[in-house]
Amino acid sequence: MARIFCIANQKGGVGKTTTCVNLAAGLATAGQRVLLIDLDPQGNATMGSGIDKRTLTKSVYHLLVGLGTVADARVRAENGGYDVIPANRDLAGAEIELVGLDRRENRLRDALALHKSEYDFILIDCPPSLSLLTLNGLCAAHGVIIPMQCEYYALEGLSDLVNSIKKVHANLNRELSIIGLLRVMFDPRVTLQQQVSAQLEAHFGNKVFKAIVPRNVRLAEAPSHGIPGVVFDRSAKGAQAYLAFAKEMIERVKTL
Ligand code: ADP
Ligand code: MG
Repeated sequence: MARIFCIANQKGGVGKTTTCVNLAAGLATAGQRVLLIDLDPQGNATMGSGIDKRTLTKSVYHLLVGLGTVADARVRAENGGYDVIPANRDLAGAEIELVGLDRRENRLRDALALHKSEYDFILIDCPPSLSLLTLNGLCAAHGVIIPMQCEYYALEGLSDLVNSIKKVHANLNRELSIIGLLRVMFDPRVTLQQQVSAQLEAHFGNKVFKAIVPRNVRLAEAPSHGIPGVVFDRSAKGAQAYLAFAKEMIERVKTL
């Protein structure tokens, strides 16, 4: 049965999509069956997986509003070796449509119910908000992976996210927990980053993943080729870190 994880952080540009795409490809490299769900109307995870968001006939939007199934919307990311339920701007309208629908927080969970046995991991790339879309991700998931940059304001944002996750846990999804914090775009030469990193370890203990993803230009270049960074340049430091993170996740799920 698939373990389902949201990659979430209400801040934009913190590395959610990069983490989702590279974790998906890293897990696939390790022989895992992976489904990536793009829940962001920007469609960056879709494009970064080599799928053209402008030519989709069905997408995650159709899934959420009941106009399509997983089987209709699913496409193969050939370069990454995983399946994708893609997204594009259609999804921006879903938020309003969902408000009027039954089980509005559980639409994604319901849609995935029949497909859990087909995958080992289902990864959900959340938009940069605590919206009804993100809520659908959190209600469908077993756990949340939080990518974060080690800067001062990151800690402030983290408490809002942790509180939201606690509320979802209490009211909507008893299975939900924080799987871990992933330090990304890390630059060890910056003293403040080292300090924040140490604070995270002190405060969150083993909830902080051991893998640390450095700032690495090869990871930023990969999306324009539609190839996950870990495949685009496997030997780059960023790719190596995401491959180590994928291994760590495989070990971590054994303990859940
Ligand atoms: P989010 O999904 O949280 O908005 P992204 O994953 O899209 O964040 O990352 C924001 C930008 O930073 C993108 O241009 C991406 O290519 C770049 N980026 C992400 N991680 C790294 C990294 N480790 N090193 C260098 N650039 C990165
Ligand atoms: Mg993103």
